[in-house]
Amino acid sequence: MLPVNQAESIILDLIHPLDSQLDSESIDLSAATGRILASPVTSQLDFPHWDNSAMDGYAVRYADVQSANEQQPISLELVEEIPAGYQPQKTIKPGQAARIFTGACMPQGADTVVMQEHTKRQDNRVLILQAPKPQGFVRHQASFYRAGESLLESGIQLGAPEIAVLAAAQCTELTVYRRPKVAILSTGNELVTPYQLLQPGQIVDSNQYALTAWVTLCGGIPKVQGIVRDKPDALKQAIAQAILAADIVLSTGGVSVGDYDYVDEILAQLDAEIHIRSVAVKPGKPLTVATFPPPSQGNKKGSSHPVLYFGLPGNPVSALVSCWRFVQPVMKKLSGLPMQRWKPRFINAISRSELKSDGRRESYLWGQLQLVEGKYEFKLAGGSHSSGNLINLAQTTGLAVLPVGQTLIPAGEMVQVVSVCF
Ligand code: AMP
Ligand code: MG
Repeated sequence: MLPVNQAESIILDLIHPLDSQLDSESIDLSAATGRILASPVTSQLDFPHWDNSAMDGYAVRYADVQSANEQQPISLELVEEIPAGYQPQKTIKPGQAARIFTGACMPQGADTVVMQEHTKRQDNRVLILQAPKPQGFVRHQASFYRAGESLLESGIQLGAPEIAVLAAAQCTELTVYRRPKVAILSTGNELVTPYQLLQPGQIVDSNQYALTAWVTLCGGIPKVQGIVRDKPDALKQAIAQAILAADIVLSTGGVSVGDYDYVDEILAQLDAEIHIRSVAVKPGKPLTVATFPPPSQGNKKGSSHPVLYFGLPGNPVSALVSCWRFVQPVMKKLSGLPMQRWKPRFINAISRSELKSDGRRESYLWGQLQLVEGKYEFKLAGGSHSSGNLINLAQTTGLAVLPVGQTLIPAGEMVQVVSVCF
């Protein structure tokens, strides 16, 4: 049985990130949410695109108004009104000004905006009641970004702010990493789908649904292979097919030492290299990690890397906890995220609950990781923490870690927590 940190480093060494050239695709901005840039983005537009006003007010020549004050206001002739979106037609000459609104283009000749609150309108003239700062309230062309400079680096995941930047810079065609393909199969004679009438002794295959959801949330493409019976031939065929379909294969069940646990045997028959058979973790323990040489056939395009196989425990709690702990960093590394985003991180949190373990294996207790008044807190999920209880997994956002040898963390003490959000 391997300690958790050893298992983790073996696993992370086995996965190769997607290749920014061979494993990339071109997509439109409208479909880019959540995707990861495979090449840097550069815009041909300055930002701001042109000098514009940061205020509702009056565009003036600073030299005209530098001495203005309440006692001796300066009167200027208004020659034009410039709403946002309008191209100014006039040049502001000495003694003149233009009415201007936020975001509107600065007219030629003017270099400063006086905010409306420091003025008084008199028909087609304006009184300047207070001297502005030179170039005040003007957003200068290219002051935030100059055309041709790097706008967003490769490896950046595109969320709302990045999408805003790309849209403003009119970068509508993007090169992103392809989404990793993850094959998912459930093994077990007892399994039925959530849509089938449950007969005595049968168990609903929740793992398939849980892992499909998890892969989707990680930005991967789930390749659902369905339920496979505990029959060596069926299993062999299903695994062989899964390898052709995916970068990563996740199977659940059949990796313990029971009479119907065939997965390891079949992996060996298929010439997989088995790197890990069990990890000193709770819940979890049986965890098979293997690699297959890159398939020479099938519908694979892109770079050629071994397929990483995870034989996860069948128990739904163990399956998901193993996935969060061991497969999530792999998905991130594979996806093209930089190291600081995929290296597993622990968050120091105050435990709001008493946390217990038998101290024999590294234990993961599920619950909610929350930010409360600027500090992280961990609240243990209510109900039984038996690995057979899947019901209280709902709403999990963090896993509290009790290292080997530690049997108790009293409420109010600090605990290390793994965030399960991608
Ligand atoms: P196994 O690892 O195959 O011995 O399975 C361990 C436990 O997990 C057994 O109680 C199984 O019935 C249950 N189990 C196995 N696979 C699944 C699955 N896909 N969905 C839900 N429960 C499962
Ligand atoms: Mg089984």
